[in-house]
Amino acid sequence: MTVTERVVYLKGLINGMELDADKKEGRLWTAVISVMEELADAVVELQQQNAELAEELDDVYEELSAVEEEFLDEDEFDSDDLLYQVICPTCDEVIYMDDDMLAEGSTVCPACGEELEFDLSGLEDEEMVSEGNLDQMIAEESPEAVE
Ligand SMILES: [Zn+2]
Repeated sequence: MTVTERVVYLKGLINGMELDADKKEGRLWTAVISVMEELADAVVELQQQNAELAEELDDVYEELSAVEEEFLDEDEFDSDDLLYQVICPTCDEVIYMDDDMLAEGSTVCPACGEELEFDLSGLEDEEMVSEGNLDQMIAEESPEAVE
């Protein structure tokens, strides 16, 4: 039984006693029931608000952990910013690249404007990428210029 149901049940019991509402006892019980009804309403309202707050809090926690993850990812990324270096086969310019540029598969040499494409097949092991071994592998396999 909920609090509200119990109050309703009590009210029924007291009504069944057929107390005279004008006499002292009758007035007392009427007042008691009235206070209990108010309390039951307040409890129900608080329970609802509490449930809503708990739900909102869950959402906040979820968003917070998503932001945290993103932040941590970025942090990691910052620590090995401009990790990769390639040498332009046309003008020998040293070009520094980050993960995003690498992921695009090609870039334009800032010195001569040559478009450089990278073949990343065989370099898909993400662990190797995150450990920063990719620069070595790229250095060994310099990118080929595309006409
Ligand atoms: Zn170049």
